[in-house]
Amino acid sequence: MLAYTYIKKGEFRLIEKEKPELKNEKDAIVRVTLSSICTSDLHIKHGSVPRTVPGITVGHEMVGIVEQVGTGIVSVKPGDRVVVNVETFCGECYFCRHGYVNNCTDPNGGWALGCRIDGGQAEYVRVPYADQCLNRIPDTVTNEQAIFVGDILATGFWAARISEITEEDTVLIIGAGPTGLCTLFCVMLKHPHRIIVCEKSEERIRFVRDHYPDVLITTPENCKAFVLQHSGNRGADVVLEVAGSDDTFRMAWECARPNAIVSIVALYDKPQVLPLPDMYGKNLTFKTGGVDGCNCAEILRLIAEKKIDTTPLITHRYPLSEIDEAYRIFENRKDGVIKVVIDCNKII
Ligand SMILES: [Zn+2]
Ligand SMILES: [Zn+2]
Repeated sequence: MLAYTYIKKGEFRLIEKEKPELKNEKDAIVRVTLSSICTSDLHIKHGSVPRTVPGITVGHEMVGIVEQVGTGIVSVKPGDRVVVNVETFCGECYFCRHGYVNNCTDPNGGWALGCRIDGGQAEYVRVPYADQCLNRIPDTVTNEQAIFVGDILATGFWAARISEITEEDTVLIIGAGPTGLCTLFCVMLKHPHRIIVCEKSEERIRFVRDHYPDVLITTPENCKAFVLQHSGNRGADVVLEVAGSDDTFRMAWECARPNAIVSIVALYDKPQVLPLPDMYGKNLTFKTGGVDGCNCAEILRLIAEKKIDTTPLITHRYPLSEIDEAYRIFENRKDGVIKVVIDCNKII
């Protein structure tokens, strides 16, 4: 089969590999129908994910059809159309039992697919702990509607959940990239009084304005003044930081009102400064970390109920054989790209 492979820092290549086989009774083999490219794939390519194993097939956001299951699998069967969770987790350790699946203590736990074990920018993928990590896609939900459920949409859902948003709140979301937009969709489900998105890219601003006219938009230079102006001079009740650039951590806590919740969803390249003397008396609550992707069934239900629709994010589609070009477009942010999906059944 063809598999897009991390060769070395700076180089991915589409190469021929053996089709994966079951290694464990809790595995499943999935024939990948659609896979997407995530910013984390670019981090791997650029060598900023040190645990990545050279030779690994990349890709961790995908849907497919179950081809084969181990003897210990009860929740899916061959022929089922499924979405794959970015996080593989045992479901049994202390952290899994408490819903903190990102911290699963199993050696294959957490983000392993497409990083430490072969991922899904390929024709087939082996998924460990398939009972936990595969969710059946309802018949009324298409592959394109479901493709982001296991990664960026799970992240947005988790971010909105931990932020304790109420209907009185003014919510600031910093960053309108793919994960920022998924966060926006999930924040909208909480019906806060007002949502403000801060973004610098004109294309992304236009996208938000065109699709979600009720959302207020500001730019980094004006963010603090804009938030004060639209919050009775208090500051945002909840801030979700999804940008992860140099100044956005500072912006997040500066735009928050006293006693606000500040959720840090972004992944930074560098350490950030937490200047406690400057924020003394502001009594902020910070929540930080990576997604606990354990709400995929609920997210699929919300998609089936037409309460979340991420399909506008898909701006480009390529067959697996043209994945190099797909990366070129995504990596260089060409042609108004937001998300690219790869049809892994189509090989020209
Ligand atoms: Zn990702
Ligand atoms: Zn676990």
